[in-house]
Amino acid sequence: MKSIKDMLLRMREDLVKEIARRSKATTEGTMPDIGDILDSVSEERTRELDMILTDREKKKLNQIDDALDRIEEATYGLCEECGVKIPKGRLKVMPFAKYCVECQEKLEREEKYLREEPEEGIKKVPAGEVEE
Ligand SMILES: [Zn+2]
Repeated sequence: MKSIKDMLLRMREDLVKEIARRSKATTEGTMPDIGDILDSVSEERTRELDMILTDREKKKLNQIDDALDRIEEATYGLCEECGVKIPKGRLKVMPFAKYCVECQEKLEREEKYLREEPEEGIKKVPAGEVEE
């Protein structure tokens, strides 16, 4: 468990560094320390973050924080759907996994079904980011 937490913390740190580097380049010294922003939860700060982070980064940061929360609450590694223990091997590859393989597949099928509606003839892109 500890090693996954370390891994998540390291990922968060890398992400923060990456964002900090970019925000320095674009806003030239007008930004407060990005680490402070990310550690703060005030609404103003959240707005600032919204401008700096890409959707992808926001999503990743959310996933990391979410996983860290679950470690704190000792619910990490349990499937949110059926409560079964997610195999360690799966968590090593997908540290953000919230569901066991069965539930994940079920949910993906449902999601795919929901997205099935054709939009002005645009060809459907295969379901989002499955990191497997
Ligand atoms: Zn499950």
